[in-house]
Amino acid sequence: MSKPLSNLWQQTAPNQLQTQALQGSHQADLTIIGGGFTGCSAALHAAQQGASVCLLEANQIGYGGSGRNVGLVNAGLWLPPETIAKQLGEPAATHLTTMLGAAPELVFQLIRQYEIDCEAVRNGTLHCAHTASGLADLQDRYRQLKALGAPVSLLDAEQTAQRTGSRAFQGALHDARAGTIQPLAYCQGLARAAQQLGAQLYEQSPVQQVTRVGNDWRVQTAQGQVLSKALLLATNAYHQTINALPSPESIPVYYFQLATKPLSSKALQSILPNREGCWDTATVMSSFRLDQSGRLLIGAIGSLEHAGKTIHERWAQRKLAELYPELADQTLEFAWCGRIAMTSDHVPKILQLGENAYAVFGYSGRGIGPGTMFGKTLGEFLIGKTDPASLPLQPIAHYHESLRSAKQVYYEMGASLMHLVSAR
Ligand SMILES: Cc1cc2nc3c(=O)[nH]c(=O)nc-3n(C[C@H](O)[C@H](O)[C@H](O)COP(=O)(O)OP(=O)(O)OC[C@H]3O[C@@H](n4cnc5c(N)ncnc54)[C@H](O)[C@@H]3O)c2cc1C
Repeated sequence: MSKPLSNLWQQTAPNQLQTQALQGSHQADLTIIGGGFTGCSAALHAAQQGASVCLLEANQIGYGGSGRNVGLVNAGLWLPPETIAKQLGEPAATHLTTMLGAAPELVFQLIRQYEIDCEAVRNGTLHCAHTASGLADLQDRYRQLKALGAPVSLLDAEQTAQRTGSRAFQGALHDARAGTIQPLAYCQGLARAAQQLGAQLYEQSPVQQVTRVGNDWRVQTAQGQVLSKALLLATNAYHQTINALPSPESIPVYYFQLATKPLSSKALQSILPNREGCWDTATVMSSFRLDQSGRLLIGAIGSLEHAGKTIHERWAQRKLAELYPELADQTLEFAWCGRIAMTSDHVPKILQLGENAYAVFGYSGRGIGPGTMFGKTLGEFLIGKTDPASLPLQPIAHYHESLRSAKQVYYEMGASLMHLVSAR
C-alpha cells in the first residue's frame, strides 16, 4: 500500500499569495527569517503597528511545520499547568499559561478580522483516554485546568463515544477554547494579511549570512540583502544553516498523517458530528480529525521519510479499523509528515542573539496558538512598542540541547516499535 508522499493541506489551501525572491538592497525596521505561524504573525502584528517589515522564507510560506500539522488549535502547552509551574517557578509559569490559554482566541480573532479562509471550526478539542491510566491523567489535568477557570469538561465513555463515534475510549477532556483549522491556509492567510498591511514578503529566499553593520543587522540571501535595526529568527525545526548566526537547538521529532477519501454522509452522522479535533493519552500519541470535505485524518509520531514508512502506514490502517470498524476498508489517499522542534523540558525558548535580535523555537508539538502568540508579542516588542514583560517567556542568553541525534533516534525507534506491535 506504500504510496508517494502527498500533503492534503497543499491540495486544499486557497493560496492567494503573490511574492518574489529577494533581489537588491532593502531597509526595514524589522527583518524576519522564516514564514511559518511565528514569522507571519510577527510580520502581521509589526505591520499593524506601522513598522516596515521584511520577511524572508527559504521555500514557500508554510513550508515547515506550519503547513504540515494536524490543525488542532489548542490552549496552553502540551504540559499540564502544575508541571510548567515546577519547571519555571511562579509567577513566570502563570504568566505563560495565561497567555497561551488566550492563544486560541487570538488565532480565531485573526481569522475573523482578516477573513482568512481556513476551514476554521471552534467546537473545542477532545483529549481522549485510551486506557484507565490515561483517564486518571485526564482527571488530574481537568482538576488543574478547572482551578485556573478554564472551560473544560470531563466526558465519560458513553459521552465520548457519542462525540467521537468510536467506542475505543474510556473518557475524554473537552476544552471549549480550542478548535481546528486548515493550518497551511491559516499560515498563508496571516502572510496575506501582513502583505496587505505593507509587509514585504520574499519566498524562495534562503538567508545565507547575518552580520552586524554598525547598529544594523545585515541579512543576506544569494541575490539580495536587508538592513534593519531588529531581527527575528523564526526558523524552528526547519532551520537552514546561516553563517555567523547560532542555530536554534531542538530535538527533531517526526509526526505523520494519512487522510481518507471524503466519508459518506451516513458515516459523518456518527463520526465526529461536532467536528472536534482529537488526540489521545498514549505515550506514542496519535490524533484524528475531519477536514471540511469530510476526510478523516489519522496521525501519530513517526517519519514517513525512511524505512519505517510501511510500518507506520500499516499501523494507521489498523488504527482506523480499531477506532471505526466500519472504515476498515477505507483507502488512505494522502500521506505526509513533518518535523516537530522538541525541547527536553517541552517548553519553548526565546534566545537573545544580540542587540534587538531574537530566535524563538521549541513549541514541542503545540505551535499554532503559541506560534501566533510568540510571533505577535515578539514582533511588537522588536519594533519598540512593548517591553519584555509583554513576552510569554523571558529571553535567555544561551540554549544547548544535548544528545539531539540520540534523542531523535529514541523517539523514532520507540514509535516504530509501538506501531509494529500494536494499533493502540
Ligand atoms: C506533523 C506535525 C503536526 C503538528 N500538529 C500540531 C497541532 O495539531 N497543533 C499545534 O498547535 N501544533 C502542531 N504542530 C506544531 C506546529 O506545527 C509548529 O510548532 C509550528 O508550525 C511552528 O511554526 P514556526 O513558524 O515556528 O516554524 P515553521 O512553520 O517550521 O517555519 C519555519 C520556516 O523557516 C524557513 N527557514 C528555515 N531556514 C531558513 C533560512 N535560512 N532562510 C529563510 N527561511 C528559512 C522554513 O522554510 C520554514 O518555512 C505540529 C507539527 C508537525 C510537524
